[in-house]
Order: sequence, then C-alpha cells, then structure tokens
Amino acid sequence: MITGLDEKLQPVLEEVLRRNAGEPEFHQAVREVLESLGRVVAKHPDYLDDALIERICEPERQIIFRVPWVDDAGQVQINRGFRVQFNSALGPYKGGIRFHPSVNLGIIKFLGFEQTFKNALTGMPIGGGKGGSDFNPRGRSDGEIMRFCQSFMTELHKHIGEYVDVPAGDIGVGGREIGYMFGQFKRLTGRYEAGVLTGKGLAYGGSRARREATGYGLAYFVGRMLSTRGAVFADKRVVVSGSGNVAIYTMEKVDAFGGKVVACSDSGGYIVDDAGVDLDLLKEIKEVRRERIAEYVRSKGAGARYIERGSIWETPCDIALPCATQNELTGKDAATLVANGVIAVGEGANMPCMPEAVRVFQDAGVLFAPGKAANAGGVATSALEMQQNASRDSWTFEQTEERLASIMRNIHDVCAATAEEYGSPGDYVLGANIAGFVRVAEAMRALGVI
Ligand code: GLU
Repeated sequence: MITGLDEKLQPVLEEVLRRNAGEPEFHQAVREVLESLGRVVAKHPDYLDDALIERICEPERQIIFRVPWVDDAGQVQINRGFRVQFNSALGPYKGGIRFHPSVNLGIIKFLGFEQTFKNALTGMPIGGGKGGSDFNPRGRSDGEIMRFCQSFMTELHKHIGEYVDVPAGDIGVGGREIGYMFGQFKRLTGRYEAGVLTGKGLAYGGSRARREATGYGLAYFVGRMLSTRGAVFADKRVVVSGSGNVAIYTMEKVDAFGGKVVACSDSGGYIVDDAGVDLDLLKEIKEVRRERIAEYVRSKGAGARYIERGSIWETPCDIALPCATQNELTGKDAATLVANGVIAVGEGANMPCMPEAVRVFQDAGVLFAPGKAANAGGVATSALEMQQNASRDSWTFEQTEERLASIMRNIHDVCAATAEEYGSPGDYVLGANIAGFVRVAEAMRALGVI
C-alpha cells in the first residue's frame, strides 16, 4: 500500500518502481504527478482506460551510447551518452542535454518525464525528451569540450531532426557546446537544418532572448503569482541558488522588477552580498572567465561573504528561487525559510525542492511555483526559435520577450484555473500536473494505442 495515492493509481506506480529499479529521481517525479491525478480519475474515470496513464509513464524510446574522445594529454576517455525520447504525442521530442558527472539513465528519465508535461503547458507543439552524458566539463579545455561534443553528436545525429527530436542546453551545455554540436551535425548530414537544435548562437540561427528566457520566465511567473496576493518583487529580499544561465537571468529580471538578490551559489558554496549581487561582476566571472563563485568575493572585496558548503537557504529572504539542480532544497531548508518569513518560492531548476520541502511550503501557506510551470520559459522560447528557423525569420528582442511574457502569463493562469477547478485554489503543483497531463493524454487518446 502506497500512502497518499489514489488506490486505482497504486498499480501504476508499483509497475514504474518495478520496471525502473534504482532510479529514485524518476520514481519521485512520477509519484508527484500520480498524486495529483487522483482527483482527475475521480472526475473522469475514462483516463484509466487503455493503460493510458501507464503508457505516459513509459518512455517511447531510450538510447544509450558510448562516447569516446581524446583529451589534451592524448589519453582516450570514455563517457556514456543518453537520449530519452519520452513522448511525441504533441510534437517532436524536445528537451535539453545535460553534461554532468551525476547523469545516469534515471536522471535523464526523470527530466524527460517532467519535460513532457512542461512542454504541454507551454501550449506549443512540442513533445518531451532529454539527453546528456556523465561527462564532467569542469576544468576541461575548449579543445576537449569541442572533441567531446563532436563525438557525442557523432552518435546522436542518427536520432534527431527538425521533425524528430530537437535537443537544446541544460546544466553544462550552453551556447558554446550547442555550437560545436550543431557544427558536427551539419558536417555529418550535409544539411543546414537550423531547427534541429535550439539555444544556438545569434550568428547562426539562434533566437534573441533564448539565453535569458528561463530566468526571465521564472521572474514573470513568480511576479504574477505574487500579484494574486497583492504582492510585488519591489523591495523584497531574494535568494537565488545556482549561478548558471537560469540563475543569472533570473537575477537580472528580479533586479529589473525592483527586487534585491542578496545571495547565489555554486556546488562549492554560496555568496551573500547584502548590497545586492553585482550582476556585471557575476557574469564576468561565470560567463567570461568560467570561474568559481568564490572569486566574486575576491573581486568585490568588502561587503560580500563567501560561505563554503553550508546551505544558502539559511540566508533570510522574502522570496526563494532555487535555480541550481534537483533535490537541492530539503525539508529542513524549507522549515528554515518558513521560520525566516519566506512568502514565495519558485523553482527555476527541475525538481529542486524535495517532496518534504514542497509539503512544508504548502502547509505554511507559502506561494509555491513548481518547475514544470515556472521554468517553462526556456523551452517555450526554444519553440519560438524553431518557429523563426522554420520561417527563415529573426525577431527582435522585444518581440520575442513579449511572446515569452504572454506565454508565462498563460501558463500561470491555466495552472491557477485548473487548481481551482479541481478544488485546491492556489495549489500550482496540482494545477500544473493536471493541466499538463490532460493535454498529453487527450493527444495520445486521439492517436490510438501508441
Ligand atoms: N533544459 C531546459 C529545460 O529544462 C530547456 C529545454 C529546451 O529548450 O529544449 O526545460
């Protein structure tokens, strides 16, 4: 007996646990969605027909491959590559590629599962997928990164395409890596198929505002969520974990909305700057020099502190935006944030809050925005990049950002309306899971037993 789950959905989860042994993150992601679906099947028992929910939990295809490459010392290195093509009912598979030593099949599966519902929430015609490798880019030279990306694409190119599967970036994969992968795809296929990858550079088919989109989108979503309680970002103390692409552009938009970001982090520790994090300096350290965040304090001097290891969530704040990685915010961290008076939490990363943490926030009445809704701006703008590529057009920054802002408003409002319809006003987790599920389920049903 699995607690907290509708009895008709128990066998679904049991089967997922059995079939995907040793993949705790995937179990966690599926469980959270199934917990929300109890209310759906109570109202619409036909969703239980034809093993529809079981099929949604099973990826359409899982590709695992060897990635051999030669390092600067002339040594041959081996990594493992993955692409999980989770669901293509709504469009070609779409989702990022992650390069990080923690990557394994279960992590990519959890990300692909989340991506499927996130992409559905954007309202754009994109299915869900995710890929990656256990390659660790830290400390690697530019030449090593390029050779790794080329080797990775040498296998991946057989499985992707503008109408098939469209990867993008994620942790450890940014503009530089996408460029090397696109170059190798073009060489191998002899085709200039711009729409095969998103997150491309502006020099060769990228979209304006794509780099900023996940972070800006998060700030838009949380801003709208705050407005449901008559609150605004202005004059709020904000803590943003991480210091990668999502974190940096979240901070930039929070700043523009008048909030003050006082802390951010990397895997080594966190910095606190009560005067407000200096974004130009942070960008220079992270995007240009590609250095660790500890450098911030060395460069900034007085006023800023670096805390090695420790929890960034001990920093008192009004708004907490976890933008680093999965399961980075524990139940204990959530209790600390609540004790310090947090009013809103928005997930910029994928599944950064552990299930206990989400419960603590919701029980305390804290506004909580789940990643699959709040961080969907990145992939939504990827879909806008695909549109520009398909029409051989290039939009202005303002035009692209306006589309992003309206997509985020829409996702927010759909989640809020769905939560209300299912009897839990303000529960964005329930709203996002149900609204995403219904869109995928309806498309799958229309396509027959697929
Ligand atoms: N990796 C991002 C995400 O988690 C973006 C995916 C994309 O643009 O395809 O949604």
